[in-house]
Amino acid sequence: MRASVPSFDFGLDPVALRRDFPILAREVHPGRPLVYLDNASTTQKPLVVIEAMAEHYRETNANVHRAVYRLAEIATDAYEGARRAVARFIHAPNEHGVIFTSGATASINLVAHAWGQPRCKAGDVILLTEMEHHSNLVPWQMLAARTGATLAFVPVNDIGELELESLDRLLTPRVRLFAFTHVSNVLGTVNPVRDLITRAHAVGAAVLLDAAQSVPHMPVDCRALDCDFLVFSGHKMCGPTGIGVLAVKPERLEEMDPFLGGGEMISRVTLEQATWAEPPHKFEAGTPHVAGAVGLGAAVAYLEGIGLEAIHAYERALAAYVMARLETVPGLRIHGRATARSGVVSFSLEGAHPHDIAQLLDQDGVAIRGGHLCAQPLMRKRGVPALNRASFYFYNTRDDVDALVRSVLRAQEFFARANG
Ligand code: PMP
Repeated sequence: MRASVPSFDFGLDPVALRRDFPILAREVHPGRPLVYLDNASTTQKPLVVIEAMAEHYRETNANVHRAVYRLAEIATDAYEGARRAVARFIHAPNEHGVIFTSGATASINLVAHAWGQPRCKAGDVILLTEMEHHSNLVPWQMLAARTGATLAFVPVNDIGELELESLDRLLTPRVRLFAFTHVSNVLGTVNPVRDLITRAHAVGAAVLLDAAQSVPHMPVDCRALDCDFLVFSGHKMCGPTGIGVLAVKPERLEEMDPFLGGGEMISRVTLEQATWAEPPHKFEAGTPHVAGAVGLGAAVAYLEGIGLEAIHAYERALAAYVMARLETVPGLRIHGRATARSGVVSFSLEGAHPHDIAQLLDQDGVAIRGGHLCAQPLMRKRGVPALNRASFYFYNTRDDVDALVRSVLRAQEFFARANG
């Protein structure tokens, strides 16, 4: 089997990189090394990120943007430095269009309230796709219910690609917003985003790109893509939980009303009314997650040190190896065979429920998902109640893949016996 896979020389050494992640050395079940394959859900954290956050609390903690004492200035510099690092990383048109949120979900809800709410009315359409994560579906359902706008969906075909032929019919001048994922968290499909964005703009629609599964894994250039809104989460890219980003194009930024009101987001306040601070602060009411931003800044520097091109190339090769190996398991079906794929591999096994499989694999130390993967409509479309998903990052090795396949084979034999 090994002879048939390409050499894994991508200028990236996963075995050396693993040493940066303390948790990857632990055994959750005694005698079973942890094989962590749930990276689409959240990634592990390198020591540099853990240390950056600890050092912030040890050495530089103070509230930001408020006080004039030196420590507060240092904390503010750290917070704003992280914003600059993120803006550089995603090639944002400017820093004040980079808004810190608690994550991709919060970013999408912010757009729905701050931009969508005043703009959408009955007769307008919000275009989505059938492969969206609930986070890029439910906020739009809620907005549609509040405004009378309707939802429409680009269908997904059997191999897990968007049916682009349907766009001629669906992309009409009534579409206010086209919100879609860059990379599917279920099928691993990498969508042709540049083309989709150009076509949306041609009918006057704004675009929200859900980059939760792309920014951590491949170079993403906001300016080149020209998307209006881009969202992602820190915890899926070696950063902490509770911090994420909404990057907004300058023209759209001017159109956005505030969503949450409170401290930090104001300019002048009287008892009756208030005026707003300039972006990004206008959209960051209350004390922000300063340590989270510092951790995200450290994660960005860490990923830049490895190189996003290298990460993407390595993960693609690893995914191809996973697919080839999993195909040898009797009764196993891979869901998602798009030409352009990421390191997300979902599968089902005949005669076994995904929860039971995930539980059996856990006994071997192999952590994968079993469930609806926050995409219930896509499960329904594919005719399955749930799926298993193994998702990879640069610190996963071929040994991890081999451990996965060994464990899946063991599960397959178990269920074949149980089903008689
Ligand atoms: N979109 C996609 C494609 C995702 O995979 C996820 C997380 N699984 C989200 C949005 C939501 O991210 P978060 O839970 O960090 O807000």
